[in-house]
Amino acid sequence: VLDSLKKLVVDFLRGKDPYEVAVENFIKELQKTLLRADVNVKLVLQLTNSIRERALKEKPPPLVSRNEWFIKIVYDELSNLFGGDVKPQVFPQKTPYIIMLVGVQGSGKTTTAAKIAYFYKRYGYRPCLVCADTYRPAAYDQLSQLSKQIDVPFCGEQKSTDAVNIAKKCTEWCINQNSNIVIIDTAGRHGYGEEEALLKEMQEIAKSVNPDEIMMILDASMGQKAYELALRFHSATPIGSITITKLDGTAKGGGALSAVAATKAIIKFIGVGEKIPEIEVFEPRRFVGRLLGLGDISTLIEKLKSIEHSEEVEKRFAKALSTGKITLADIYLQLQTMRKLGPLAKIVQLIPGLSMMPIDDKQMKITEEKMRKWLAIIDSMTYEELRNPSIIDKNRMVKIAIGSGTTIEDVKELLKYYELVNTMIKNIKRRKTLFKKFGIDL
Ligand code: GDP
Ligand code: MG
Repeated sequence: VLDSLKKLVVDFLRGKDPYEVAVENFIKELQKTLLRADVNVKLVLQLTNSIRERALKEKPPPLVSRNEWFIKIVYDELSNLFGGDVKPQVFPQKTPYIIMLVGVQGSGKTTTAAKIAYFYKRYGYRPCLVCADTYRPAAYDQLSQLSKQIDVPFCGEQKSTDAVNIAKKCTEWCINQNSNIVIIDTAGRHGYGEEEALLKEMQEIAKSVNPDEIMMILDASMGQKAYELALRFHSATPIGSITITKLDGTAKGGGALSAVAATKAIIKFIGVGEKIPEIEVFEPRRFVGRLLGLGDISTLIEKLKSIEHSEEVEKRFAKALSTGKITLADIYLQLQTMRKLGPLAKIVQLIPGLSMMPIDDKQMKITEEKMRKWLAIIDSMTYEELRNPSIIDKNRMVKIAIGSGTTIEDVKELLKYYELVNTMIKNIKRRKTLFKKFGIDL
């Protein structure tokens, strides 16, 4: 639902209506969108009132149009709605650090436990997973399998039903294994509306393992109902954080996020898919920047960090962004990266400016087969050709095609793709400069 904001922004920037009319229209559409995303009515009205007030009062800085400045105002105010200028402290101040997950059945605790373990592992920590869910027999296997997938130590007991005892023993075991982050998954078997019982169980296990952080897992499809639960949790534990899952799968994500933000609880992570890497640190400004299609270079770079030849990619990417030029060698690395990170379409959304550009979906869809071919093509180019693709004429194309076991059409297609990416990078650079003037931090 919130996806439609991107289009709203593009239309606004391109629109021809007088400023006041355009602003009113934008605000009306924004209200509709937010209400459809289950954001609380009162919050929506507050938000749009301050947007309107600022829009009519503030004068844009030199070289910035009123329309552009208006988008900056929307960006600021929406960021506030989702929690403001906070960056959660995700890296522990002490080790070993014990995190205990709580939440109702099906909210995504077990999945999140594995996601978080993977997240920390990528940053060089030694996480350990504990299954303290003795209620569901399959829980043990589920977490045990996930831990194997990400190669993280796992502790649990299939026979016992004493969750408190398991949590305590396993935490000790993990620490003896030299783990420095212990992540405890719990049962949370209580249905919706039984928050009190949930909080009570949380306190029992907490008493015995003494966690450094209790993380509540909330399913985004609760929408603004998340407010009550988050508020109680926030006041019940001073060391609490919240992770909101399934933001990818619900239209009510905006409601859940804004409702939880309104309680001033710390939202640490958001779950954006079923797969293990699909978790992000929640930073409101970043999140909103992406919603509005302003892009999000830091998330992109963070993802790139997680892969082996990350430094190289990062350096090249930063360079490409600062010079506005990309080489075929960069594309080569990018293709290798994509094979690990998944479809370009998803990555592209993270790049500032790109999500605002009309991009032909078919152009961006690169199949595994194509990637393999393109990598082979780049492999069989000379240094000269790599450095200066414009010299590649018909003759060179034939040679390259033969050398890589592909066709001239394949070579042409790669060169076309290269041009496309080059244009994008130039546009990104232009936008980045513009956004900097606005104080938008991409
Ligand atoms: P638990 O009962 O709280 O431990 O919940 P699980 O971790 O077993 O998750 C319940 C379901 O939600 C599973 O099918 C997960 O794949 C799914 N799930 C968890 N997190 C996400 C997410 O961020 N996005 C999506 N789409 N599905 C998720
Ligand atoms: Mg579970």
